[in-house]
Amino acid sequence: MIKTIAYLGLGTMGSGMAANLLKAGYQLTVWNRNPEKCEPFARKGARVGDTPADAVRNVDLVMYSLSSDQAVEEVVFGAEGILSGIKEGQIAIDMSTVLPAMSLREQKAYAEHGVDFLDAPVFGSKKESADAKLWIMAAGNKAIFEKVKPVLEHVGQTVHYFGKNGNAAAMKLVGNLIVALEMEALAEGLMLAQKAGLDLNTVMEVIKVADFRSPLLVSNGQNILKRNFSPSFALRLMLKDANLIEKFSKSLESPAPALRVVRKNLESAAALGFGEENASALIRALEKEAGVEVKARRAN
Ligand code: NAP
Repeated sequence: MIKTIAYLGLGTMGSGMAANLLKAGYQLTVWNRNPEKCEPFARKGARVGDTPADAVRNVDLVMYSLSSDQAVEEVVFGAEGILSGIKEGQIAIDMSTVLPAMSLREQKAYAEHGVDFLDAPVFGSKKESADAKLWIMAAGNKAIFEKVKPVLEHVGQTVHYFGKNGNAAAMKLVGNLIVALEMEALAEGLMLAQKAGLDLNTVMEVIKVADFRSPLLVSNGQNILKRNFSPSFALRLMLKDANLIEKFSKSLESPAPALRVVRKNLESAAALGFGEENASALIRALEKEAGVEVKARRAN
């Protein structure tokens, strides 16, 4: 049974998951590049590791949620990285959104140390992470999956098993391709509605109930109308994911023509300085082109 866990990467997603693991009673060690983010966890009884290698010593399970392949490269493979501290018999789970090829590299490197590895990225954002309501996909050895499933159930509302390593990372990119196109559809739709002089609050009432509704369209649409772009999923991360999806789909010769349009708009919005805002700020690229701001005329 898993009793001790190290959680590395206390950003938007990792901080919610680590807090829920602490609440569930696991003995927790945390590590974050910027050590200030460890302080609230230390106050609640978590040990703080000095380095990734130090953080993972003697725990049953190592989990991490890091921004990119580059961050995983540094934290796992770098000097004083996880691989220099982890030992045979421990288990590692990467919950970041990375290329499936990175998951396979991690699996191979961990196997050389006698360590089992799962790729287990998530759907859901800041709120779902804080509320332990993430939608989790996991891939790797089935027996190891069964062993860590109770832990994953403390941070997520569903856990789907995807077979061999890399498959969960692939599913995450499939999902984020759909998310990216939904965000673009919302931005283009709201822009057209604004240009057509429609009442945008009533437009959102229809989006909420019609047969193309989705929670993602509703929450992002409402926030756009309020001009609330505070980040749950930063635009820079969606751009990072668009680049990963492009690379992955190209490697499989799977056409993704609409993604290129979204990527271009994400790049434009990032170039305008909106990379740290929520991904829905991609509408700002269309607004620049149209010379119009999409905004509700009355508060709802
Ligand atoms: P975030 O808030 O930007 O946090 C990123 C974390 O990675 C921070 O702990 C950061 O450390 C760390 N990091 C970045 N570069 C690093 C490096 N070179 N070395 C060491 N640590 C580094 O991102 P997030 O929103 O939590 O996302 C984390 C992962 O989950 C990403 O792969 C993202 O695509 C994925 N994801 C996000 C969402 C979402 O809605 N936010 C949803 C699903 C999946 P510092 O604090 O020191 O910067």
